[in-house]
Amino acid sequence: MGRLIYLDNNATTQMAPEVINAISEAQSVVYGNASSMHSFGREANKLVEDARSNIASLLECSTDEITFTSGASEANNTVFMIAKSLIEKKGSGRIVTTTIEHPSIIETVKYLKENGIHVDQVPVARDGRIKIDELKKLMGPDVVLVSVMTGNNETGAIQPIAEVSEIAHSYGALFHTDATQAIGKIKVSCKDWNLDYLSCSGHKFYGPKGVGILFAKKGVPFMPFVHGGEQEHGRRAGTYNTISIYGTGIAAKLAQENLDEENRRLWKMREALREGILKTVPHVVVNGCQDQQFCLPGTLDVSFENVEGESILLMLDMNGIAVSTGSACATGSLEPSYVLLAGGLDVELAHGSIRFSFGRFNTMEDVEYVLEVLPPIIERLRAISTR
Ligand code: PMP
Repeated sequence: MGRLIYLDNNATTQMAPEVINAISEAQSVVYGNASSMHSFGREANKLVEDARSNIASLLECSTDEITFTSGASEANNTVFMIAKSLIEKKGSGRIVTTTIEHPSIIETVKYLKENGIHVDQVPVARDGRIKIDELKKLMGPDVVLVSVMTGNNETGAIQPIAEVSEIAHSYGALFHTDATQAIGKIKVSCKDWNLDYLSCSGHKFYGPKGVGILFAKKGVPFMPFVHGGEQEHGRRAGTYNTISIYGTGIAAKLAQENLDEENRRLWKMREALREGILKTVPHVVVNGCQDQQFCLPGTLDVSFENVEGESILLMLDMNGIAVSTGSACATGSLEPSYVLLAGGLDVELAHGSIRFSFGRFNTMEDVEYVLEVLPPIIERLRAISTR
């Protein structure tokens, strides 16, 4: 096999070697049920609680505000179902969210609307950032929950979370952010942003797959989404995924230690690729935010005129380079990305978009290789294009 370059870190990341080592060691000796009272259970419980305290430290919250779930999708669903229950109990109320959330929210919104819940979605500008004026227009005392993602998985656009949180609270609404793409890349603080709920997922920051984190501020309404046993103080039933939760805790610690350096390194690679593409490939549009402070550092989304994104993806894959078109979750549909369309991008350009997403294990040599391989691919595809 030739060279392999993974530039799809927003879809998921490979586990950090420290995580692999820790969980390999633990899984051969720790197998008790973390809820059991005997020594095997207590040993397993210690791993879960160690992870909880690392994660609380990363998110700047306290340990009893963290609930483990199966992923960010479940955490997002839980929050929206809490809002549904509140609205149903009161007999009135509304949810306000955006048009660019992850499918685990967009599809939940569809489900809620079909079931009689009123949900409004704030539009975004060309740079992928929400229109604050439109948000303000949609606000009112009947809004129960506002949910705005921290950073977008496709464009990388970062939203003004502290400001949105303040707006939501000024109307008496609860505020939730899906910070899945932001953790480990920018500083995320439940305290500074005055969050009521936050969702994220360990596999986006070099932890194992299948562990989600739901922060719920002390005292905010909470209803379980998965009913059953008394795990997580009755907030989320199901036997603890002990080893993976432990691995997520190790990953959280590394994320906290490496945050600033990681941010700088990712941005440097992203910028080198962006500049290189603009220099070597004509007729391209860089999507999303260009201002560093409003952009996830490792995300670069580019539209190539007169080429299908899927063709570029396959040609890059043949050369050992893994990227994505739209979000991984939407792949297979061949529909252009709803996130790019929501930002007002032309349909043709949305069809020709590619997302490069850098991670901890990429190097500048990867950028150089992509810049060698990509321009001739685009040239060839354009030469045979019927568009
Ligand atoms: N939210 C965002 C912004 C995401 O990027 C993802 C993963 N693609 C999710 C939620 C869902 O995370 P999980 O895979 O842990 O359910």
